[in-house]
Amino acid sequence: MTQGAKRALAHYHRIVIKIGSALLVDRGNGLKRDWLTRLCDDIAALKEKGVEVLVVSSGAVALGRTVLHTHPGALKLEEAQAAAAVGQIGLAGAWTEALKAHGILAGQILLTLQNTEERRQYLNARATIRQLLKAGAVPIVNENDTIATSEIRYGDNDRLAARVATMIGADLLILLSDIDGLYSAPPHLDPNAKFLAEIPVITPEIEAMAGGAASELSRGGMHTKIEAGKIATTAGCAMIIASGKIDHPLRAVEDGARHSMFHASHMPVNARKTWIAGQLLPAGTIHIDDGAVAALKRGNSLLPAGVSAVDGHFSRGDTVAIVNRFGGEIARGLSGYDSDEARSIAGQKTGGIEAILGYPARAAMVHRDDLVMTLHETAGNKDGTHA
Ligand code: GLU
Repeated sequence: MTQGAKRALAHYHRIVIKIGSALLVDRGNGLKRDWLTRLCDDIAALKEKGVEVLVVSSGAVALGRTVLHTHPGALKLEEAQAAAAVGQIGLAGAWTEALKAHGILAGQILLTLQNTEERRQYLNARATIRQLLKAGAVPIVNENDTIATSEIRYGDNDRLAARVATMIGADLLILLSDIDGLYSAPPHLDPNAKFLAEIPVITPEIEAMAGGAASELSRGGMHTKIEAGKIATTAGCAMIIASGKIDHPLRAVEDGARHSMFHASHMPVNARKTWIAGQLLPAGTIHIDDGAVAALKRGNSLLPAGVSAVDGHFSRGDTVAIVNRFGGEIARGLSGYDSDEARSIAGQKTGGIEAILGYPARAAMVHRDDLVMTLHETAGNKDGTHA
């Protein structure tokens, strides 16, 4: 175990812990119950100190395929869904048993992408999870793999965990993984890869370090972990990537096992903007000119005059990505116009809009109350290009 900074986890109020499939499930032997038992010792110790804990547990598909003895290759969607149906029961049962040993109740929450993208369902899920936390239970969350179809699913629990963390206002997200943190390059391929212990802000350079590597049993690689980091830190939630390949992995982080810490933004956005920024599938893209980029950075609304092009089909109120002239995303927001209207008034001064639309213009293409900046740039990267 390489030594790093000690981390007082009990200083956080609400922690989401995401467990990768490969940590919980062994291809040959199924569920790793001893490891889970020790992890639950750590969770109980945190709860004892007053920390609220929520778990996002992967492993349904991996466990289901060991039980069903499915072929070792990549699974078709329906095979993976059947495996998840079998595995999820075992997984939930194992968590229930392991937490019960500490007198802690588990509550199962299965979410789909739709549940977190649609505002009313999102608020509903949040209320249920809050209720469970209030009752002292540990919510055990997974994607509802049995019904999620390929186009509308997370597919990886890294981003799901970040979305859940921001949904419930957690102040720390811990991704337990088969790697102990972020490296400047994949360490198994590049002997000169440098370990990054502290990441104050996720810059385009940091994003570029995350290759696509995923192991056989899990879906997410470093790429989805960095995406998770962006969702979490923007909302004021710090994120740790740490190795789960040891017993008592949370205690190990407290004792200084090496890990990467992504700092929470100092200017977290409010709850509604958190929901906007964390949307995984913006319905369209609005391209804007340099003047509008500068205006947005000053905290202004996006006016039609600064819009150079509009892509996609969306309705008023849908989330759109706002990109600069290099195509780099700088913000997200709720569109004030349908896509057809938006296209017809792109580049127009406010005064000329009524003549085009046939009704008086609304103030903004995207109002500043519905807009959140998503690009965190460094001094050398002012235009948001990905060098
Ligand atoms: N939801 C998937 C499962 O339980 C795991 C997704 C992931 O590996 O991130 O099998």
